Amino acid sequence: MTTRKTNRNWKPATHLVHSGGERSQFGETSEALYLTQGFVYDSAEAAESRFIGDEEGYIYSRYGNPTVSMFEQRLCALEGAEDALATSSGMGAVTAAIMCQLKAGDHIVAGRALFGSCRWVVEKLAPQYGIESTLVDGTELDAWKAAIRPNTKVFFLESPTNPTLELVDIAAVAELANEADAKLIVDNVFATPLYQKPLELGAHIVVYSATKHIDGQGRCLGGAVLSTKEWISEKMYDFFRHTGPSLSPFNAWVLLKGLETLPVRVAQQTSSALAIANALADNKGIKRVIYPGRDDHPQAELAKRQMAAGSTLVAFEVQNKAQAFSFENALDIVRISNNLGDSKSLVTHPATTTHKNLSADDRHALGITDGLVRLSIGLEDTDDLILDIQQALQVAGV
Ligand SMILES: *Cc1c(COP(=O)(O)O)cnc(C)c1O
Repeated sequence: MTTRKTNRNWKPATHLVHSGGERSQFGETSEALYLTQGFVYDSAEAAESRFIGDEEGYIYSRYGNPTVSMFEQRLCALEGAEDALATSSGMGAVTAAIMCQLKAGDHIVAGRALFGSCRWVVEKLAPQYGIESTLVDGTELDAWKAAIRPNTKVFFLESPTNPTLELVDIAAVAELANEADAKLIVDNVFATPLYQKPLELGAHIVVYSATKHIDGQGRCLGGAVLSTKEWISEKMYDFFRHTGPSLSPFNAWVLLKGLETLPVRVAQQTSSALAIANALADNKGIKRVIYPGRDDHPQAELAKRQMAAGSTLVAFEVQNKAQAFSFENALDIVRISNNLGDSKSLVTHPATTTHKNLSADDRHALGITDGLVRLSIGLEDTDDLILDIQQALQVAGV
């Protein structure tokens, strides 16, 4: 195999088409799909040296695979990370990144506004293994500071958060983590690797659900953990290799090709999201519109500092559940689904779906009211989307 050229000065779009590629002896234009579990060796001696580590090469696809490796390397080039491990889902990435570095007696501090399953891992799973956890209001720096204990080893946050699109000051939390000698993990799904660079802001580890914008067309689950070579090899690799959250080569190939179109898709989706947020803000019947790319976002200043654009999600609040349901049911183009980042625009009512397992008090603390609606903006024509949303608001009496 020959490694394709990579130039560190390339802009993201160029990296996403070329970086990380490996060509076989056939000189294929597109990346090859190595749909294989295992690898064969030319001799018993070659097998022995591969296992000792004297000879470079693949051993078994649970540990590594050429197509998966191309996906990991391309993602590294975009993120500016030294190394990555791809996983079978975003939750595989989050769970591995957290659990691989903690043991009984350690403590984790996390922003309380988390993707539902991430919150379950921190709040329910970790304590089962003797790992203490504290959830804080991620927007309050003092809350992070107050939660630090001598045994705090990991900070974990999501920004923007799901579904209320609150922001956490990544650079400031990274500084607190450094003072506490802890590692900061950032779940960067909502911002996308194009619009927010957690490693540059001081985070130690970045996790993705590649299921979202990286696939972007609703086909495959996948995830990734990115960090330094040292952290990946010392903290994560053995956990990953022996517990098996590996990404299928087939899914890696789909996601690798998804990276090639990521900048074009996300730019279009973001431009529509801003236009839709602006149109929603003009409707006096809507209680509030939340979009990190608008100046009326409560943390607009922070958004400008750590995000290059507002990204592809918009949240807004109508009067109550009945009005939210009536809006969802009246939509023609936008489909009802809990997913996001898809080329198809999707609408979610968090209180009755993604966040229904939280207590009413917890939902209230997070600002997830019965009238809150989350839109994930897709690749349809912007004007068609605005017209669809406006007619549905009218039907719902907003
Ligand atoms: C979807 C999502 C996850 C989980 O990813 P899966 O691929 O569904 O396992 C984690 N964090 C965030 C912010 C997400 O949106």
